[in-house]
Amino acid sequence: KEISTRESTLAKIKVVVRKRPLNKKEMSRKEEDIVTVTDNAFLTVYEPKLKVDLTAYVEKHEFCFDAVLDEHVNNDEVYRATVEPIIPTIFQTTKATCFAYGQTGSGKTFTMQPLPLRAAGDLVRLLHHPTYSSQKLKLWLSYFEIYGGKLYDLLSDRRKLCMREDGRQQVCIVGLQEFEVLDVQIVKEYIERGSASRSTGSTGANEESSRSHAILQLVVKKHNEIKESRRNNDGNESKVGKVVGKISFIDLAGSERGADTTDNDRQTRIEGAEINKSLLALKECIRALDNDQIHIPFRGSKLTEVLRDSFVGNSRTVMISCISPNAGSCEHTLNTLRYADRVK
Ligand code: ADP
Ligand code: MG
Repeated sequence: KEISTRESTLAKIKVVVRKRPLNKKEMSRKEEDIVTVTDNAFLTVYEPKLKVDLTAYVEKHEFCFDAVLDEHVNNDEVYRATVEPIIPTIFQTTKATCFAYGQTGSGKTFTMQPLPLRAAGDLVRLLHHPTYSSQKLKLWLSYFEIYGGKLYDLLSDRRKLCMREDGRQQVCIVGLQEFEVLDVQIVKEYIERGSASRSTGSTGANEESSRSHAILQLVVKKHNEIKESRRNNDGNESKVGKVVGKISFIDLAGSERGADTTDNDRQTRIEGAEINKSLLALKECIRALDNDQIHIPFRGSKLTEVLRDSFVGNSRTVMISCISPNAGSCEHTLNTLRYADRVK
């Protein structure tokens, strides 16, 4: 079977919106579903409002994106609409990123978790394809978190990491463990292990993980035999290989957390400011990328610094904006859609 990359026809930046179904709690409260998806690319939000004399009315907001996935779309279809077309380009030096953006509870983790598993399956299949099987390529996985502007390895007991640039616009995260992906089943274990290790504070797991960005990377490297035989036995073979291409899956902090800048708790305020900064910097970087700007403002935050090498050269970005359908989330939903609209 021929590998078609369709690279030239793939947009550099793709913005997709995913609407989740109303959950049990929202249904039991008889909350209204105020988001209507039409035609796979358009959606309308019906914002409930009150006039000064307290009569109710509805304000309509219409949006258009590269794709809009409604509540009936499953994770397989999400994969096909977002990541699948990019996979073959990873073998042609593409650095790809796939973000899940949205308020806490909008479905970011639900959307993001299965994607690396499917991507790894396709990448491993391509490694064994006759086109590449003679090239000594290997697939590596790493999983880390940015919390309060600091990096933690999610696959080695939350070891604190630091970042270094190597002068050739390559980002190196010192100490980050990379694991070779020989079969896909192991990826599932890594995802589960890493996710379980995400920030959990006294307030409970979900609450805290909403304040961190989780980044899972799949990297294809080319391994040179001569160098391999010279490698010292530090157990980190992956450092030897040369990066061919990679894809990063990023489960972003809850977008509403960026507003936690006036909270009574000092730590919460600091984290809120950091999240706000990183989501703004991310938007600016993607816009710069879209306009083919020479200067990409990646220094704006830890998140964008870490992703620096994915914002230059042959890059692909998919933004999946997750939205809740209930009337009570209207303000956050509109904020998410406006953010996505600015990125587009
Ligand atoms: P977030 O990561 O944005 O905080 P989650 O992914 O944890 O949100 O989703 C919140 C809840 O909604 C979870 O219980 C999840 O299983 C459920 N959920 C999210 N998206 C969907 C969907 N498309 N279909 C069914 N359930 C969903
Ligand atoms: Mg989550």
